[in-house]
Amino acid sequence: MTTIAPTTVPAQGAEEIQDAGHVDVLIVGAGVSGIGAAHHLRDQFPDRTFVILDAQDNRGGTWWTHRYPGVRSDSDLFTYGYRFKPWRGPSIAAGEEILAYLDEVIDEDDLDQYIRYRHRVTAASWSTEDRRWTVEVTRGDTGQQLRFTAGFLWMCQGYYNHTKPYRPRWDGMDRFQGVVVHPQRWPEDLDLAGKRVVVIGSGATAATLIPAIAGKADHVTMLQRSPSYYFAPPTTHELAVTLRALDIPEEWTHEILRRQYISQYHWLARTSLEAPDELHTFLIESMRPLLPEGFDVDKHFTPRYRPWQQRIAVVPDGDLFAVLREGKASIVTDTIETFTEHGIKVSSGEEIPADIVVTATGFNLSVLGDVAFTVDGEPVDFTERVTWRGIMINGLPNMAYVFGYFRHSWTLRVDLVSDLMGRLLAHMQDKGATMVVPTLRTQDTDMQLRPWSDPENFNPGYVTRSQDILFKQGDREPWTHMLEHEQELEILPEADLDDGTLVYR
Ligand SMILES: Cc1cc2nc3c(=O)[nH]c(=O)nc-3n(C[C@H](O)[C@H](O)[C@H](O)COP(=O)(O)OP(=O)(O)OC[C@H]3O[C@@H](n4cnc5c(N)ncnc54)[C@H](O)[C@@H]3O)c2cc1C
Repeated sequence: MTTIAPTTVPAQGAEEIQDAGHVDVLIVGAGVSGIGAAHHLRDQFPDRTFVILDAQDNRGGTWWTHRYPGVRSDSDLFTYGYRFKPWRGPSIAAGEEILAYLDEVIDEDDLDQYIRYRHRVTAASWSTEDRRWTVEVTRGDTGQQLRFTAGFLWMCQGYYNHTKPYRPRWDGMDRFQGVVVHPQRWPEDLDLAGKRVVVIGSGATAATLIPAIAGKADHVTMLQRSPSYYFAPPTTHELAVTLRALDIPEEWTHEILRRQYISQYHWLARTSLEAPDELHTFLIESMRPLLPEGFDVDKHFTPRYRPWQQRIAVVPDGDLFAVLREGKASIVTDTIETFTEHGIKVSSGEEIPADIVVTATGFNLSVLGDVAFTVDGEPVDFTERVTWRGIMINGLPNMAYVFGYFRHSWTLRVDLVSDLMGRLLAHMQDKGATMVVPTLRTQDTDMQLRPWSDPENFNPGYVTRSQDILFKQGDREPWTHMLEHEQELEILPEADLDDGTLVYR
């Protein structure tokens, strides 16, 4: 189509809306999803124009936002890395290594010229008459308002608000004399030396942060209301070491390790449903020998939910358990009664002294980047909408979103969704269609709508807290989502684009 938006826009009055041009595809988000989407788009449709807008001042999304000590992946990078770009490092990677990997993709695909940082998308309006989205953007640096138009909107905005972390309030916080920090907003100059640190939370962030700071602080206490599951794989996979020592091409090593990890994930997902008690026992028993002798495993490490109803936190090489053994860190499992001037008092009456409290309490979920959508002048209320395969939404024309796996590597789904998007765009071209709208068929109109996430299946706090603002899923395909990777690997490549649920014009 026509113009690509200019890289720099001359500063004008903040109220004036500047026309920033038209693109075939407008991608929102320059994280793992947006960069992957752009790669696939360029690869399959080199002639289509596109732009990537991101509110932050740099690439990486999650890996740019989260720069607390020790930040790393939970997933292995052979599957968290893209299908198309070999991962050359150890299985578990530091945040910086992931950013460096994304930089390579940006560089190899020459994507930098298409990314506009500090561009927050605030509104998107579809016009059927014009067959295009009008996208309102506020620049973070100048406050300027811009207006892009796009034939297709590809939302790669992730699942949580990057600027407002979830910060619960507890009694007595105002009188606390120490410092309270959130991992999403880690102060670069935070001095831990000689400090008593309490980390509230027991998820992946707490499990990552605690071993990273335990050597620096005087003592770290993990304060959890209830325990989580952990798994302690080695940072480096022996098979990768062997293949690399044999000088096997990195592409092969990537593919072999990917298959190995994927089959492990599939086993884990199946077992969590078919034999949850056995998996529970396996996870607990594999932790036990790594903990100090006589440690109260039942109290501190035995979750009340089924494995994989929430993410299993990875503890590479058991580093969290090592700092517990060494006495540099300890665990309290209890509820917070109040903050005091010098710490936190829990229900048992114990007061945990603290100079620094880290609230590793998670996210505020955001629905499609908190963008205000309208279709032909009608505001979209997402709570009344239903997903099409976890990729599109009924009644929203020419809009796809990327939502990765929670239980597997997020990126596995970035590649799969991009393949489907490629098929869809090609199909529209073949049909001469300029518009595609997921639409409930007559036989779907009485479909029972279910919550975005079935609490029986997946119920971490950030999801449970936000069910009432999220769109829904139906009780049949293609109106379902959050299927397992093993299922989608079969379903998505074969998905019928002419089954009547996608209406083309
Ligand atoms: C600390 C941490 C570790 C994790 N580890 C793993 C792991 O090991 N494995 C795994 O599978 N998952 C992991 N996750 C989940 C992780 O979020 C995903 O893996 C993945 O990074 C999501 O990528 P994304 O590009 O979809 O979204 P994000 O990384 O959230 O990036 C979205 C981008 O979109 C931008 N954006 C959003 N809304 C707008 C808007 N309105 N206008 C403009 N820009 C906007 C944001 O600024 C952001 O840069 C982890 C999450 C955290 C927080």
